[in-house]
Amino acid sequence: MNAPVVVIGGGFIGLCSALQMQRRGLAVTLVDPGEAERAASFGNAGQFAVGEVVPLSGPDTLRKVPGWLADPLGPLAIRWRHLPRLTPWLIRFLRAGRPDRVAAISAAMAALCDRIHLDYQPLLDAAGAQALVQPGPHLRLYGSRADFEAEGWRWQLRVKAGLRHELLDRAALHALEPTLGESITFAVASPDRSSVIEPLRLMRALDACFRAGGGEVVTGSVAGFRREANHVTGAILATGDVVAASQVVIAAGAWSNRLTALLGDRVPLESERGYHVVLPQPGVMPRHSMSHVARGFALLPMGERLRLAGTVELASLEAPPNWDRARRLIDTARTFLPGLQTGGASFWMGHRPSLPDSLPIIDRASQTANVIYAFGHGHMGLSWAATTGRLVADLATETPGNLDTTPFRLARFAGPAWA
Ligand SMILES: Cc1cc2nc3c(=O)[nH]c(=O)nc-3n(C[C@H](O)[C@H](O)[C@H](O)COP(=O)(O)OP(=O)(O)OC[C@H]3O[C@@H](n4cnc5c(N)ncnc54)[C@H](O)[C@@H]3O)c2cc1C
Repeated sequence: MNAPVVVIGGGFIGLCSALQMQRRGLAVTLVDPGEAERAASFGNAGQFAVGEVVPLSGPDTLRKVPGWLADPLGPLAIRWRHLPRLTPWLIRFLRAGRPDRVAAISAAMAALCDRIHLDYQPLLDAAGAQALVQPGPHLRLYGSRADFEAEGWRWQLRVKAGLRHELLDRAALHALEPTLGESITFAVASPDRSSVIEPLRLMRALDACFRAGGGEVVTGSVAGFRREANHVTGAILATGDVVAASQVVIAAGAWSNRLTALLGDRVPLESERGYHVVLPQPGVMPRHSMSHVARGFALLPMGERLRLAGTVELASLEAPPNWDRARRLIDTARTFLPGLQTGGASFWMGHRPSLPDSLPIIDRASQTANVIYAFGHGHMGLSWAATTGRLVADLATETPGNLDTTPFRLARFAGPAWA
């Protein structure tokens, strides 16, 4: 009997890739250390972020960065000790912000965003997980209409991508979301953007569906590869055990480049660390998921509990968390949710797997014929997981797909950052 396809990483990208391949009739084994909280997928803001087609780097980024960095608890922070190692990534990041690149990147983001609901639907149905999705609208909050208008090219990209939206003035907004305080006077409602009640519950539902379909899950960490000529024939675990493989999918989130390096591919992947706070008895419960644009902040109602999530910190996978950044999320939430109760709060930090151009790599390895890469989804990994899984299944079954995958190729990072 043929060895299975081995998927490395059990976050949303690995789980959805495993499920999509299983749906095409492939035998699949998933390998993950089984420490759910380590995955970015565990702690995210739960948004199926339809219409989020704005790359992080844009023509005005260089001008804005000093202001962000001046505030050590602002929406973006860099641990300066890591600057030498981060520099090649930052150079590529700034180069991705040239106007011609922004337009192309946004079009590629739009192609993925357009498929969020279409590609998730069958997986949610198979997993019986439809009830975990809460419908929109999502509310993007602004201090004022002027703050909204200052979004300029960012908002134009969303409109160009066809995002359905409604502008809400103070009266309309407060009628729709009475929990908001007076500091918020303008918002945009996006009806197509839904959210997951609790990302961990969705992970568990997808995992159960995969197992019920005959999928095998191995608890362990992949440390190397068994090879014959230019093929991988197995994943070697840290224990020394080998999981035999006909093909391998690397979907190990922010840790993926450690594995690609073993196969000769150097990839500019960095961790964009983010934080969350979960309030068990918040005292006020918004009706909608919301984000506060200027503060890099999102808010997710989770039944009785409320999750505050966001901020970007460039450090490393190993640097200890700065819990003041998580506490700052509470301070921000208090400014627009009067009466918020923060007793019993739990804190979490996770690693967004980020490539400099805000797009993932979904492609074959350059030197190893039967290895597929699926990582680097940055701020959009929950949203784009089902579609990524479908593209991975296309590669694994050598089926031509209906989406242009050129923007997700590994080769775009060939050569040094400064060339
Ligand atoms: C604060 C915050 C808010 C966010 N909000 C949203 C949102 O609202 N919407 C959205 O779409 N996205 C959001 N994201 C981004 C999203 O969470 C990530 O893009 C996504 O979870 C990445 O999924 P992944 O499967 O690639 O990686 P992960 O979820 O990190 O999973 C990788 C898995 O691989 C395992 N692994 C690593 N190395 C190995 C190895 N050697 N062997 C075996 N297994 C290994 C890890 O332990 C982990 O389980 C947010 C992220 C953060 C941090």
